[in-house]
Amino acid sequence: MLKSIKMTALNLDQLQQDPLIQTLQQYQPVFWFPPENVPLKQALQNVGLTRADIEDAEARLKRFAPFIAQVFPETQKQQGIIESDLVRIAQMQQLLSEQWKIPLQGQWWLKQDSHLPISGSIKARGGIYEVLAHAEKLALAAGLISLEDDYRKFDSDEFSAFFHNYQIAVGSTGNLGLSIGIMSAKLGFRVSVHMSADARQWKKDKLRSLGVNVVEYASDYGVAVEQGRKAAEADPNCFFIDDENSKTLFLGYAVAGLRLKQQLFERHQVVDAAHPLFVYLPCGVGGGSGGVSFGLKQAFGEHVHCIFAEPTHSPCMLLGVYTGLHDRISVNDIGLDNQTAADGLAVGRASGFVGRVMQGLIDGYYTLSDQSLYAFIGQLNQSEQIQLEPSAAAGFMGGYHTTAQTSYQQLHQFTPSQLANATHIIWATGGGMVPPEEMQRYLLQSQRLLT
Ligand SMILES: *Cc1c(COP(=O)(O)O)cnc(C)c1O
Repeated sequence: MLKSIKMTALNLDQLQQDPLIQTLQQYQPVFWFPPENVPLKQALQNVGLTRADIEDAEARLKRFAPFIAQVFPETQKQQGIIESDLVRIAQMQQLLSEQWKIPLQGQWWLKQDSHLPISGSIKARGGIYEVLAHAEKLALAAGLISLEDDYRKFDSDEFSAFFHNYQIAVGSTGNLGLSIGIMSAKLGFRVSVHMSADARQWKKDKLRSLGVNVVEYASDYGVAVEQGRKAAEADPNCFFIDDENSKTLFLGYAVAGLRLKQQLFERHQVVDAAHPLFVYLPCGVGGGSGGVSFGLKQAFGEHVHCIFAEPTHSPCMLLGVYTGLHDRISVNDIGLDNQTAADGLAVGRASGFVGRVMQGLIDGYYTLSDQSLYAFIGQLNQSEQIQLEPSAAAGFMGGYHTTAQTSYQQLHQFTPSQLANATHIIWATGGGMVPPEEMQRYLLQSQRLLT
C-alpha cells in the first residue's frame, strides 16, 4: 500500500509514479492484495456491525417471508425466502483449465444470485431488504402492525393507502433501481429511481410499467445518486436509499454469507483450515460485494478468502483502498473513463463506508477487461447452459489469480493439499431478468470475440 499517500490529500503527481497506478492508467489487468492484514477479530470489530445485526436482518426477512410468498408467487417454493442456488460448474472449470493451460484444482461452484427471484440480481438482497426494513419501521410507528403479526397484512388496500403517503428514492446503474422499484411499488410507495446513463433501456421500461418514476441522466452513477439525494431532501416524507453509505443495505447482503454455510453443508463441502474457501465477487460501489464478504467472514472466519473483481475501466475500490483515499478519489482522477459493458460495475468512486471498514477483510482485488467478461459469459453458456450479464461474470478470473499467482499462495502459506481441497465460488450477480433478445446480443458479442 502507498503508505506515504495514505490519508493525506490527493497527490496526483506522486500517484503517477506508482507502477500499479500506471498499469491501471493503461487499462491493463492487475491483481493486487495487501501484503499484511490486521488480525481477523480486530478487522471484524472495525466494521462496527456484529453477527447479531446480521441475524436481526435474517429475522426481519423471515417475518416478511409469508408476505413475499403471497405477492411474488415465484418465491412460494422457498416459502418467501429470497435465496439463490449454489451449483457445481465442473465443465466450465475444465474448459478454463484447458484455455489457461493450468490445472484448476479443488471444486468450482457458481452462486446464482444472477437468478434470484423478484429482480434477478444480487440487488434482490440489499435493495429489497432495505425497502422492507423501512416499511416495517413506518408500519410499527403507526401502530398498524406488531412484530408477532402475520405480515401478509402488508398485502392489503389499507397498507397500500398508508404507504402511498410516503416516497422512496434511489440512484442506480440499473439493478438496484429495479429491485427497489419493484418492491416499493408492490407495497404501495411512490418511488423515484434516478438512473445513470449506463442503465439498460429494458430496466427503465420495466419500472415505468410498474408506475415507477424513472429519472434519466446523461452522466454516470455518481451524478444520478447525487441528484436523487437532492430531490429526496426536498420532501420530508421521502426516504433516500443510499447505496454509498447504507448499513441497512449492507446487512441485507450480509445475510447471504451466513446462509452459504448451510448451503455448503448440504453439498458436503467442508470449509476449515485444511479446506480453504475462495469467493470471487464483482464489485461496483462495494455494498453488495462488501456486505456479502462481511457475512462470509462472520461465517467462515479466516478460512474464507474474499477477492473483489472490477472492470479495467472502473477499478474504484482497488484505487480507493490502494491509495488509502477511499471515496476521496475517483477513477477519473487518474484519467480513466469509467466506460464498461459491465453496467452493474460502472462506478467511478467507491463507497466511503465499505472501503474504509472492509479493507482489513478483503483479501485481494483484480481488474479484468470487457473482452474477458464477454468471453466468460459465452463459455459459461456453452459449457453449463447458464446465462449471465457481463458484470456477473467478473468472478471467473479470480480462480486464475489464486491458482497462478504463487505470491498470493506464499503469503497465506498454502500447502498443495490445501489447494487441492479448496472450494472456489464464483459469485454470479445478475442476468436472470435480461430479456432474451438482449441476452442473444451478449452471446453474439461473445462469439465474435472467441472466434
Ligand atoms: C450492483 C451489482 C454488482 C456490484 O455490487 P456493488 O454493491 O456495487 O458492489 C455486481 N454485479 C451486478 C450485476 C450488479 O448489479
